[in-house]
Amino acid sequence: MYSLDYNCTKISLLQGDIIDQETEAIVNAANSSLMGGGGVDGAIHRAGGASIMLQCLQIRKKEWPNGLPAGEAVITTGGNLRARYVIHTVGPIWKGGSSGEEEKLASCHENSLRVALVKKLKSVSFPAISTGAYGYPVSLASNVALKAVKKTLDSEPVAKGGLHEIRFVLFTLGDYEAYVTAMKAVFH
Ligand code: ADP
Repeated sequence: MYSLDYNCTKISLLQGDIIDQETEAIVNAANSSLMGGGGVDGAIHRAGGASIMLQCLQIRKKEWPNGLPAGEAVITTGGNLRARYVIHTVGPIWKGGSSGEEEKLASCHENSLRVALVKKLKSVSFPAISTGAYGYPVSLASNVALKAVKKTLDSEPVAKGGLHEIRFVLFTLGDYEAYVTAMKAVFH
């Protein structure tokens, strides 16, 4: 576990499973269909149960009939999870880095935090969005993710004191180490 405080918010990194987190929300690295998938998405739907999928279906019907675009974020119940809410965001697919990947990955983090702030949530856990099936190199993605967090905490007055903790839950030791390196680079 590695953490620091920035503008009244604790930013913490830990190796673990996002399913187990007791933060008010966890973020899902969804695909644009919002209909579940592999990796962390499948794990969240399995553990959270059918009520998450029902709300995803409603969101598709009412708000995003063509699917949720990369960089956007929406919120549903957490169902049977310890977290009360799941914030679903769609990461960019890595195509070499010249296709707007960085901007979209930053938007994922900024929009997920905005959704959490609108709901007045105090704590949120993120996985390493886009670094699994979507192929974004974790050494780069970790920097983009933490810079986006810093930008949000710098720019949104509501963020100051609004969010008590932003947590990154990394599945592998290698991913955890990449995030620790990025945290030191971005915040020191
Ligand atoms: P994407 O399609 O956005 O790349 P993936 O789910 O394939 O999403 O992978 C994103 C990251 O989530 C990867 O680093 C993967 O190791 C990690 N991951 C998979 N399952 C879990 C889990 N239960 N908790 C936390 N991280 C997970």
